[in-house]
Amino acid sequence: MNPDLERLIELEKVDREIARLSDEVAALPKRVAAIEEKLAEHKAAVEKAKAGIKGNESSRRQLEADIRGFQEKIVKYRSQSSSVKTNDEYRALMHEVEFAEKQISGCEDKILELMISLENEEKALKQAEAELKAEAADVEKEKAETRVRTAEDEKLLAGLKEKRTTLRSGVNESALAHYDRVLRQRKSAISEARDQKCMACFVMLRPQTWQEIRTNEHIVTCSSCGRILYFDPANEVVAEPPKKKTKARPPEAEREAEPETSPETEITPAQ
Ligand SMILES: [Zn+2]
Repeated sequence: MNPDLERLIELEKVDREIARLSDEVAALPKRVAAIEEKLAEHKAAVEKAKAGIKGNESSRRQLEADIRGFQEKIVKYRSQSSSVKTNDEYRALMHEVEFAEKQISGCEDKILELMISLENEEKALKQAEAELKAEAADVEKEKAETRVRTAEDEKLLAGLKEKRTTLRSGVNESALAHYDRVLRQRKSAISEARDQKCMACFVMLRPQTWQEIRTNEHIVTCSSCGRILYFDPANEVVAEPPKKKTKARPPEAEREAEPETSPETEITPAQ
């Protein structure tokens, strides 16, 4: 095989792997950000549960203070009742006592409700804290894995970039310039030619070009997409049953599909 062609095929593999690894390295911080966001959600759930409990406790303290207030009023009304002069005044005081007792009873009902909901809030807090703990452990594990992966990728990238430099230095300049141009435009610069077709753009190749590509001794580019073509004998398409092998000539129609004005170009190595 033409050494330039061989290096270019290898170079494209290296370039593709460099692109893949670079994309992966760029995507890893986003993954960490996503898992940290998930952790923040769990932290918020814990905070919400804590705030619920705090609210419950302060409501209960308020109700307890209210009860004490009503109890003081009852004591006051009772002491006043011993010095009243009329039955009406006495009844009025007893009415106040009754009202205060009803208020106390109402407060006690509310406290009971709060105690029941406190139980649920504490359960919710425990669950949220357990989930946060598990999540935090997962996040740490994932972050550690991401760090390892990034370091591995970067090490691989460094090696590949070195290999890339070496490969590039061994390819003739015009072929390399062509490779770079096509790679920039089409994201791939090399294509297999199979069954007389460019496997990237599927244009039919002229018989002469096809024969030339089959030797792998020249750098031949596709007249349609510009990719550098190579031939892999392992993928040879056997069109006819192997009875009587005649040199297959492509039908005239296929040959006409080729624009005569833009023949496949051959880049002759300078070395
Ligand atoms: Zn092509």
